[in-house]
Order: sequence, then C-alpha cells, then structure tokens
Amino acid sequence: MRSVCYPRFCMPQILHGAPVQARILENLKPRIQKLSRPPGLAVVLVGENPASAIYVRSKIKACHELGIHSDSHELPATVTTEELLTLVRALNARPGIDGILVQMPLPKHIDARLVLEAVAADKDADGFHPTNVGYLVAGRPAPRSCTPAGIIQLLKFYDIRMEGRNAVVLGRSDIVGKPMALMLLHENATVTICHSKTENLAEACRRADLLVAAIGRAGFVTADFISPGATVIDVGINRIANAGEAEALGRAEEFAAKGRVVVGDVHPLDVERAAGAYTPVPGGVGPLTIAMLMSNTVELAERHLGVAGTH
Ligand code: NAP
Repeated sequence: MRSVCYPRFCMPQILHGAPVQARILENLKPRIQKLSRPPGLAVVLVGENPASAIYVRSKIKACHELGIHSDSHELPATVTTEELLTLVRALNARPGIDGILVQMPLPKHIDARLVLEAVAADKDADGFHPTNVGYLVAGRPAPRSCTPAGIIQLLKFYDIRMEGRNAVVLGRSDIVGKPMALMLLHENATVTICHSKTENLAEACRRADLLVAAIGRAGFVTADFISPGATVIDVGINRIANAGEAEALGRAEEFAAKGRVVVGDVHPLDVERAAGAYTPVPGGVGPLTIAMLMSNTVELAERHLGVAGTH
C-alpha cells in the first residue's frame, strides 16, 4: 500500500514491523521441520540490566514458539572476561548449538570485543564476528547483523525501491549503521553515511530518498532533515521519562498514562508531516531484529546439518 493522497495533504504510509516479522517467522517453520534436529541457540546474559533481561526473554520466547532449542546462561555481573571466554569456547564446541548470542552491553570490566570475537564465526547468530563482517563487505552469504538485515526485509516487504535511490544512513555503529550502509549498497542504492562529525547534517540527510536514522538521540531528526515524500526508517529506541520532553515529541497523553514513553531518533510529529513512508516507534524496526536472529540461527543449523541451498 502506498501513501494515501487527499486534495490538501498526503497521509504517509506507516511501515509496521509486525506483518514483516510474521512472514519471516512463517517462512522459517517449514525449514525447521525439514531438519533432522531442532536448531539450537545459546543466549548468554551477564548482570541485571533490566532492558537486556527483557530482550533476552523475548528472544527465548521466539525460540520456543518456533521450535528452536534455546540454551540460556545467566551470569552474575562479577563474572570475569576469562570466565566468559571459557563459557563461549564450551558453547563453540557443543554439538546441537548452532548459534551463540552474547547480549550487549556487557559490564564495563569485561573486554566485549574479545568475547564477541571468541564466538566461532560459524555460530555467530548476531553476525558481529569480523569474518562475517568481511563476508558482508564481499557480498557473500554469512550471518548478517540482525537489525539492518530486518530493515532490508521490511523495505522489500513494502516494495520500497532501493536500487538507484539516494540512501542516507545516519549513524556508523558496527551493529547498525555500517552494516546497513553495506546492505543498501548491495541493493544498488547510492549510499551516504553521516555521523557526529558530518557538516551540514540536515542538508546531507535531506538529499535522501531513503533515510535510516540510528543514532540513539530522541526525536533528533526533525522536518528539516527529511526530503518531502522520503522513506524514513527509525532504528532508535529512546526511553523518555520527562513530561516536557514527551510533550514536545507529541506523546504527552501516553506519558501521563504510563509515566514513560519510548520514541525513536526521528521526531514523531515531523515525520508524519514530511515523509512519504515511515516506520513507527515502537512497532516498526523493533520486531524485525528478533525475527532475523531466528533466521540466522536456522541458517546456521542448515549449514551445520549440511542442508543444501541455504537462503
Ligand atoms: P551507537 O553505537 O551509540 O552509535 C550511534 C551512532 O550515531 C554513532 O555513529 C554516532 O556518531 C552517531 N551519532 C550520535 N549522535 C549524533 C549526532 N548528534 N549527530 C550525528 N550522528 C550522531 O548506537 P547504535 O547501537 O547504532 O544504536 C542506535 C540507536 O538504535 C539506539 O537508540 C539503539 O537503542 C537503537 N537500536 C535499536 C535496535 C532495534 O532492534 N530497533 C537495534 C539496535 C539499536 P560517531 O560515530 O561520530 O560517534
């Protein structure tokens, strides 16, 4: 469905994540049934970060619903890097475990890079291992970083053209911005990456037919960043606990009811006025990250079990 136009204004198309998630998960079911054993995902959670605990619970729930075996490891915040490495190496060697996910962020005293690089590249459910990042650069099959891979699925689901269009990715993190830019490049978009040192940022973003915002700044992308009719993908997840800020972002009622709201990196009122299509927060990109984690896990299981024609 495209944006709906009335005589005086155009209603932008809202790109909900739920139907895309449902289709991705539906497509995984027959692939799982064909395997000689269930795919296995090990999930490692360190400490008591409430947001991380919620994410891990959702991932385990998704595994149960799909028939993926999940192996959960909860460790105290006092665990050392060496102890964590010992667990990761044991999981690398464990048959029946196809994917390993170490929930980020890790406590500050742990060397997160060392831990992520210790995960075997062929069990890297998150697609963060340098070997898999290299495969992404080369356009070869490998587990992909889940959030940008989900965004590509969303754009395809809604039939939003990438080829030949100007795509601007705002943010250059290893888990979202950089892999997003590479994936859009592989879809033949003309890609610009912007970051905190970019000059004339709003102007650079305004050149985008397709703008992906992943910076972690609530409502930062305002109308002057958005070319009229552009497609805007909002990756940000920002928790607002201040009534004034919630009101400025058009979420006063929700804040009054709940005492907190979650908004993206794109100003919710401005995107409605300026964009041709956009992902809402919550309910846009969020559901896709877990779906792609499941997809990576199934694909790794297929490889481990020698199933031909991986997807
Ligand atoms: P990150 O590692 O903190 O990276 C933020 C990036 O944004 C950096 O490249 C930084 O530039 C850039 N940036 C920050 N402030 C900026 C500014 N004022 N102007 C221009 N660029 C700026 O964040 P991340 O992990 O990519 O996550 C980004 C957001 O997405 C967060 O809100 C996070 O919670 C959310 N997220 C959502 C999902 C999901 O499933 N929906 C998944 C992952 C992340 P420099 O490199 O120059 O510092």
